[in-house]
Amino acid sequence: MDLNKVPKYRSRLEEIRSTLIGDVAKNLKTSQEEFSEFVPDMTDDATRTYNRQLMLNLGQQDWEKLKLVEEALESIKNGEYGICQKCGENIPEARLNIVPFAKYCVDCLNEIEKEQELDNNSGSNPLN
Ligand SMILES: [Zn+2]
Repeated sequence: MDLNKVPKYRSRLEEIRSTLIGDVAKNLKTSQEEFSEFVPDMTDDATRTYNRQLMLNLGQQDWEKLKLVEEALESIKNGEYGICQKCGENIPEARLNIVPFAKYCVDCLNEIEKEQELDNNSGSNPLN
């Protein structure tokens, strides 16, 4: 990943995060500013409460997305953004442009999805 390009992805990630958290904040009748200021240095207990509240208010899908966004922001801090967590190759920028919180390259993602499908099939079919 070209370090000059990282800020672009970071701001997109932050945008996605504030959209996700913003909706919940609205539901909780808390202003988005208060909410995002509240996030950074929280104790474990506060984080858990916050997470529970978010989880309840976000759908499962949005919750998973928020976690990916948080992980991607974390990987930016560690200087590991844009690297596939399975094979260690760079994730193509064309993919990051569409999914800035991608953890895997397309090849690995296909593999993982195939594995999950197999798991689901064997799990849902008792005759297997
Ligand atoms: Zn990969």
